[in-house]
Amino acid sequence: MYKKDFPFFKNSSVVYLDNAATTQKPKEVVDKVVDYYTNFCSNTHRSNHGGANKATKEFEATRDTLKDFINAPQSKQIIFTKGVTESLNMIASTFAKEFKTIIISSLEHHSNITPWHMQGRTLHKGLEVVNAKDNLEFDFEHFEELLKNNPNSFVSITHVSNAFGVIHDIKKIAQLTHKYNSYLLVDAAQSLAHFEVDVQDLDVDFYAMSSHKTFGPTGVGALYIKENLLEKLPVYQTGGATINDVSFERSIMLDAPYKYEAGTQNIAGVIGFKKALDYLNKITLKEVYKLEHELCTYLYTQLKKVENIILYNDTKNSTGSRSFNIKNLNSEDIGILLDKMHIAVRAGHHCAQPIMKKLNIDGTIRVSIAFYNTKEDIDIFIKGLKKAILMLKD
Ligand code: PMP
Repeated sequence: MYKKDFPFFKNSSVVYLDNAATTQKPKEVVDKVVDYYTNFCSNTHRSNHGGANKATKEFEATRDTLKDFINAPQSKQIIFTKGVTESLNMIASTFAKEFKTIIISSLEHHSNITPWHMQGRTLHKGLEVVNAKDNLEFDFEHFEELLKNNPNSFVSITHVSNAFGVIHDIKKIAQLTHKYNSYLLVDAAQSLAHFEVDVQDLDVDFYAMSSHKTFGPTGVGALYIKENLLEKLPVYQTGGATINDVSFERSIMLDAPYKYEAGTQNIAGVIGFKKALDYLNKITLKEVYKLEHELCTYLYTQLKKVENIILYNDTKNSTGSRSFNIKNLNSEDIGILLDKMHIAVRAGHHCAQPIMKKLNIDGTIRVSIAFYNTKEDIDIFIKGLKKAILMLKD
């Protein structure tokens, strides 16, 4: 029903089930990016002519829309970045750098692991990892034990696992984090597109979001910062548009959010991102969640019927990503055969090698759905999967 809103599906017969890698873009987003480059391509927050004023106005409108989208108190608490990866690196190399201990979960994407390694932290030497239970759920007992032993820490946890779709109970994680006088950053790469988020209710300190995982352009992300931390967060990079006054003796920074947005931003991307948020607001995230939950339940029941399947978690507390393996077959081989049948999934470690190592596997096949997918997509995929299994067995 919704595919007609996405130009990709008009031009391609691919059954696209790789939405955790990136989502398709509604026509409004594509049109807005073209509109910017065609009709008012100018820099923001600098010049004072018509095109520049329009670009600045639309750029700031995205900030306002995103503020409402996640129920942040003020627009200045949203800063634009290149994506979740840049937001995580920014916080790791500024605010979080001085903390003795960083606590992450077992299900983190590499972008929430490697920035900590870059600081010379390794397991039990400045970096602690919360266990995942057998069903891959977050082990709260272990988390509290880590916090008890390491109060005043910095906790950096993903909202949803990109490899398995497991949803972490961020509200509960935030309560425990703050009980032990620690701070919480949440990687929202896989949550923002799937269900309603209220950063005040969750009580997170930082929330790192990605436009391209949320039906918007690539190369754009945003970081929500709790108000009391806005003045405490050190500046990450400086340059054009971050400065109030400069002499050769000193630089005086602008206030937030501008002091955190150095250099010319991805203007077309940011402006396009608003259209993605507007589109989601029109459908509503309640509807998105309902549609995806139905599809995911259907996918799970169909997968369970496949012979020799190993499924890693059930549909409780999960979004649209399902990971599995077929006994004695290589996940990447299956991925290649599915591609030949024009079915796009991801096979491999999904940039989450540590959890793959814990599970003693090289990788999985991940089917990740979005609300525009259909039961028919899942039927085609299941048929293709069965065919690939037969081909590889021969
Ligand atoms: N964290 C998670 C959980 C992800 O899935 C991804 C993207 N695969 C990232 C971080 C990186 O996000 P971005 O592409 O916005 O840098």
